[in-house]
Parts: sequence; structure tokens; C-alpha cells
Amino acid sequence: MIFAIVIVHKGEIVRPFLESLSEARRQGGPVTAVAIGDGDNSVAGTLGRYGADEVLVVEPKLPDWNLEAYGSAVAELVEKHKPSAIFMPATVHGRDLGGWLGARLKVGVAADVTSLSTDGSGSIKAKRPMYSGKVVGEVAFSADRPQIVLLRPNIFPLLAESEKRDAKVTSVTVTVPATAGRVKLLRTEVPQTETVELTQARVIVSGGRGLQGPENYHLVQDLAKVLNAATGATRMIVDLGWVDHSLQVGQTGKVVTPDLYIALGISGAIQHLVGMQTAKCIVAVNKDPDAPIFKIADYGIVGDVFQIAPMLTEAFRKRATVSV
Ligand code: FAD
Repeated sequence: MIFAIVIVHKGEIVRPFLESLSEARRQGGPVTAVAIGDGDNSVAGTLGRYGADEVLVVEPKLPDWNLEAYGSAVAELVEKHKPSAIFMPATVHGRDLGGWLGARLKVGVAADVTSLSTDGSGSIKAKRPMYSGKVVGEVAFSADRPQIVLLRPNIFPLLAESEKRDAKVTSVTVTVPATAGRVKLLRTEVPQTETVELTQARVIVSGGRGLQGPENYHLVQDLAKVLNAATGATRMIVDLGWVDHSLQVGQTGKVVTPDLYIALGISGAIQHLVGMQTAKCIVAVNKDPDAPIFKIADYGIVGDVFQIAPMLTEAFRKRATVSV
């Protein structure tokens, strides 16, 4: 049996958890979703639709992220149900929880997995980028169970609607250790942004130093707006103070896997590429035909970003108007 961990926050489940649940289903059943956070039994419908045979709804509710409380809860359920594997997304929380559980249960963790397969005995082999994406390693687990797999968001497709099943739902009460109270969440500050969050965006428009100044970053924002996309940036323009660090894509920024990544005036340094090279389609605009970004781009436009970006924005705006 595979455990798919699903964090429910304010009654909602973000897509990466549904992707890892869907992938658990594709690896063969049975699949038990562990719904932890503040969700009630009503989440079972959604989780059944994405592949769960059974949903364990964790009590007490844990509305705020607390690693020790979440980790102890999952560890307790692992002891009881003995899953062969635990799937969750390689998001900030997934990475935290996966590492904690690996140490607590003394088992291996395959982080940032981009593809995987399971043999007849339930042993998993997983592929994951290593050394800043320079190589793809294939990892296997020792005989210890469970095998903890953290799946890179936006790589694994959601289950088709036709796979829908009715999940059995069970409330399970776990013990929250008193020591979890050592960490208190005082407040959450959500960045004020008009666009979609980077790591969950299906389309991203990013800008680099080719924009020549912060006053021109609106070229990125204008195009993003018509595409309903998130905006991103290179570290160079973050360090120059043009945009906030929360927009940085790359080795020391965010790793993203959108369907479409449009790079405007970005050279394509390796530290940037590791953050976006698994995008399904990459479009680059750069005036230098030898810019490294063109080596990984699906579509390359050699030209001046000040001409090309407004043309793209206008073309997509017209298209959007026609299709409405
Ligand atoms: P540049 O490399 O200066 O490229 C600008 C590009 O714009 C050029 O290719 C140029 O031809 C083009 N251009 C100029 N004018 C125009 C125009 N008018 N029209 C069209 N194109 C034009 N970088 C990241 O992005 N993310 C990271 O997480 C990251 N982490 C790092 C970690 C470490 C340890 C180190 C050492 C570096 C890291 N970097 C990171 C920095 C990285 O090495 C590059 O310096 C950076 O990505 C370059 O940003 P850029 O493409 O905006 O600038």
C-alpha cells in the first residue's frame, strides 16, 4: 500500500498533492491518502477522484504548519498501517516533512523525483536531477520500508476523470507530542502580488538583465497579464534590486516546471537553467544568437526584447479577445 500525504490548508488542497496522489495510483494500488491539516471528511470526494482507495482524515486538526506535529502524526500512521511507500510533492512543506520522516523512520528519501517505476515486488526506482541538473541519477531503495518519494511539482499529470473512484473515509486520531508546542506560528505574511504563485503557475514569463532597468520589467508583467501567467526573474536582476527575491528562478531561487516558460533577455546561465529546464515548452527572446538559453529553448527569437515583447503581448491579447 502507498501512502499519499495531502496537506489541507483552509479547506483547500493545492495541485502538487493531487499530482503525487495521481502518480501513486498509477504505480498500482492500493492507495491511502493521509489528509492532514484542517480538512474534514468532505475532502474524500476530491481525493477519491485523484486515486485514493481510502482517505485517513487526521484528527486533531492541525491548521498551522508545524513540522514536528505533522511528522509525528504521519510516523504514527506509518507504524500502524505499514505502507510500502510514502508519496508527497517536493514542495517546501513536502521536502521538510520527507526529510524529517526519513530521519525518524530511518529510511531513504528520493527527493525531487521526475520519473519513477515500481516492479512487481513494490520496489521503486526513481530518476532525479543531481548536481544542479547536470546529470540525472537513477536511485533505488534498500530493503527498508517505507520508501519516501518526493515528486517534483508539475511533472506528473493528474489522473483522468474516468479513473474516478469512491474512497472509503476514516477519521484517525493521532497523538501530537507536547514538544511540538515549542514552535509557534506567530503570523503568515502572504506577498502582495496580482499574479499566480510561481511554483504553481502553468505559464511563467521571466525577465533578465536584457531588460536594462527596473523601469522595463513591465514588459514581463504586461505579457504575463494577457497569458494569466506568473512573473519570474534571474538572480542578476534580483541582486540589482529590480524585483523581489520571491521571483527568482534557479539554483538559489525557485524550481519551476510550467507548461510554458518565456525568457525575456535572459542569457541562460546554468544556475538559472536548473530552475526551469524541465518546463514543457521554453521560448527565449535574446538579441545574441549564441546565448546559452537557445540551447535548451524549444522556440528561440533572436531579437530586441523591446520590440519582441510588446509584439507578443499584442498578439496574445488579440487571440484572447477572439476566443472570448
Ligand atoms: P546576463 O547573464 O547579463 O544576460 C543578459 C542577457 O540579455 C544576455 O544574454 C544579452 O544578450 C541579453 N540582452 C541584452 N540586451 C537585450 C535586448 N535588448 N534584447 C534581448 N536580449 C538582450 N542566476 C539565476 O537566475 N538564478 C539563480 O538561482 C542563480 N543562482 C546562482 C548561484 C550561484 C552560486 C552563482 C555563482 C550564480 C547564480 N546565479 C543565478 C547567477 C547566474 O550565474 C547568472 O549571473 C544570471 O542568471 C544571469 O542573469 P541574466 O541572464 O539576467 O543576465
